[in-house]
Amino acid sequence: MKDCLFCKIINKEIKSEIIYESDNVLVFKDINPHAPVHLLAVPKKHINSIAEIDKLDSKQALELLSVIAKTAKDIGLDKSGFRVVTNTGSSAGQSVNHLHFHILGKRNFKWPPG
Ligand code: 5GP
Ligand code: ZN
Repeated sequence: MKDCLFCKIINKEIKSEIIYESDNVLVFKDINPHAPVHLLAVPKKHINSIAEIDKLDSKQALELLSVIAKTAKDIGLDKSGFRVVTNTGSSAGQSVNHLHFHILGKRNFKWPPG
């Protein structure tokens, strides 16, 4: 989608540090990390947020979740634990309106979240 930051990252119009890429999914480092590991996993198809998950076909949605799990395992987060977050809408602090899952690890996290 025109004027979407993450579509530009997907199309390589904007540089990012890519961790994993397939036809449907991109995982890249967050530019402003809030943990020693802070990645963003996005579908290549533009949807605004998880509220629109039905706009992905079920295979793409499952691939996105599987990539999150596999990426966490590949970088050794599965043993220590990790957090997956998708902020949705303004009250949750969503700042980029292209569905993205934050993958955070290598530190302890508080619950409930702020
Ligand atoms: P949100 O606030 O929507 O949950 O998350 C958006 C995330 O995108 C933020 O954590 C922010 O640091 C990250 N971000 C914003 N601009 C860029 C960018 O140009 N490159 C990368 N890699 N991450 C970005
Ligand atoms: Zn987009």
